[in-house]
Amino acid sequence: MSNFPSPKPVLVTCGLPYANGKCHIGHLRTYIPADIFVRALRKQGQDAAFVCGSDAHGTPIVVNAEELKITPSELVKKYHDHFENIFKRMEIEFCIFGNTDSPTNHARTNSIVEALIDKGLVYPQVIRLAYCPHDERFLPDRFVEGTCPFCGKPARGDECDQGCGKHLEPGEIKNAKCRICGNPAEYREQEHFFFKLSEFAGFLQEYLKTLGGTSNAINYAKEWAKELKDWCITRNLEWGVRFPGHDDLVVYVWVDAPIGYISFTEDWANNTGGDWEKYWRRESRVIHFIGEDITYHHCIFWPAMLKGAGYTQPWAVVASGMLKIDDKKFSKSRGYVVWVDEDYLDHGFHPDLLRYYIANYTSHTKELNFSWKVFQDKVNNELVGALGNFLHRTVHFTHKNFGAIPEGKVDTEIFDKIGSTINTVIAAFDEYEFKKATDAMMELAAYGNAYFQSKEPWQLIKKDPEACKQVVKNCLQIGKALVLLFEPVLPGNMEKAWKQLGLTGDVHAAKLEEALVEITASKLEAPSILFTKLEDKKIKEMEVILDKRVKIAMDNEKKHSEEVKEDKTEITYEEFQKLDIRIGTVLSAENIKGSDKLLKLQVDIGEKRQIVAGIAKSHNPSELVGRQVVVMANMKPAKLFGVESKGMVLAADVEGAVLLMPEKKVKEGTRVR
Ligand SMILES: [Zn+2]
Ligand SMILES: [Zn+2]
Repeated sequence: MSNFPSPKPVLVTCGLPYANGKCHIGHLRTYIPADIFVRALRKQGQDAAFVCGSDAHGTPIVVNAEELKITPSELVKKYHDHFENIFKRMEIEFCIFGNTDSPTNHARTNSIVEALIDKGLVYPQVIRLAYCPHDERFLPDRFVEGTCPFCGKPARGDECDQGCGKHLEPGEIKNAKCRICGNPAEYREQEHFFFKLSEFAGFLQEYLKTLGGTSNAINYAKEWAKELKDWCITRNLEWGVRFPGHDDLVVYVWVDAPIGYISFTEDWANNTGGDWEKYWRRESRVIHFIGEDITYHHCIFWPAMLKGAGYTQPWAVVASGMLKIDDKKFSKSRGYVVWVDEDYLDHGFHPDLLRYYIANYTSHTKELNFSWKVFQDKVNNELVGALGNFLHRTVHFTHKNFGAIPEGKVDTEIFDKIGSTINTVIAAFDEYEFKKATDAMMELAAYGNAYFQSKEPWQLIKKDPEACKQVVKNCLQIGKALVLLFEPVLPGNMEKAWKQLGLTGDVHAAKLEEALVEITASKLEAPSILFTKLEDKKIKEMEVILDKRVKIAMDNEKKHSEEVKEDKTEITYEEFQKLDIRIGTVLSAENIKGSDKLLKLQVDIGEKRQIVAGIAKSHNPSELVGRQVVVMANMKPAKLFGVESKGMVLAADVEGAVLLMPEKKVKEGTRVR
């Protein structure tokens, strides 16, 4: 028994693309199977909504927009349009492609957060957070870099991205440095708000037993559900959805991003006169397609939030495995990336080819490797050699010899074969096994080719035209079934093939069961080729593009690591001489308003200099006046707490800075060598 069609409303979603960079094959690993799945549901007579949209909030967008000197909203618009365009070109057809900065999403997020507050599921707690005294702001998530408290590797504020991969809560990162100005951050206390995730342990353990989808997601989630920590859901940012009643706080991006699934459904339903609540307030089947790396958010945070606020929880979470390029871990910085526009579509490759590759390369939960060589093999041997060849020879032979689809009955044996293929395909889709499904389809094409070959219709036409008609009719029926089966995977080419078979109506709306309805007699046109072989020259060209990118990335990395090495190892005397270190006398010293660490000094170093020093905790301003200090005089000027600083007072780097001073009094401005 198949899971579909179901009387319950079905909604399929895709993990939201983050509006901060271009679309690459890694994204498509989730979106293409989801699109295939929705089309396959519709082929089975299941009405299904399909929604997605841009994830517009969070610190990486703010950081990137600041660097580009544009507003976050401008940055989001740019990538939102980019993704929408790529999805169209790849024939990924959402009912709506929304944006989490929409008024509907702000309103829905507010309403959900307020519901959680009303139910006592949110509480305030004072926590220590990284703060940049120079920029006078708190440093949430990507605004701070430092070391991971768990493994000691370099980490970002919210994630140990180069080490153990752990999610970091605000304030956990060590040796925090401001990402904007590079200065060390300090820690300040501030009140934030936490969601009582720990209260959902019992609920989640039961819920995860019934949750459908792929085992890679659910098995991990079951482990995590045993150890739940409450979750800080507010951040100090301007950009985002305001936390109710606190103008200086927004909700964490992982609160309002999944709520996008609801608000997109709302917008779509409002536009089309539908009812969003049947998906989110009543019994339904919400199926999330995601990348494996965001399982925690979808199987732990999200169902708990929905449960807490009184919404329907997802019915299934389908997580795709990771992507490799040429057997190397996918990495933008190392050049192992294939951009969907500039490396694929812009070179004239048809979207169907990549759709097939992604569906058929491996099981949905396993690692998918993309290589141009394998791409070429799959296209040439399977799409051209098996499917394209069968459809073309069948229609071509029929047109040439009969000009039309002949009358007559299709053999039962042929219908049996089609019927059993359909069952295999539907069962595979039920398990989210796109490889199994497309393998079964391709096996039917191979069966058709073998049948055509063994019956030798080109001989029969001369000896026994009636028997030849029968063979042709059988082949045309297999062709019709193949087009209906492959339509979710190859929508563009199957639309063409549908017409070549003399079939009318919309192939995208046609149901799979029509594959078992006898193909009717109609006139045929001479068919054009559906799939063409990819030439070695073209593939070589693509490989060169990828190799070049990897090489440039490697050279950059080498340069970078050499620079870092130079910093830490020996320097020449000439390099040392570039440091203008001098003796100075402190003329005056005073505290800086708003900072408990900094002092403003006027120092005579042969000329008068204003210097800001982080020594307020260890030194009283009055005791400094008249003392001699050692000053780095050619430091780049900086502004700290709005106060100009031209130079740096040298001190031993210990708790409560110990100032360096000359053995005896020397003339101001004397060089240190
Ligand atoms: Zn770590
Ligand atoms: Zn800073």
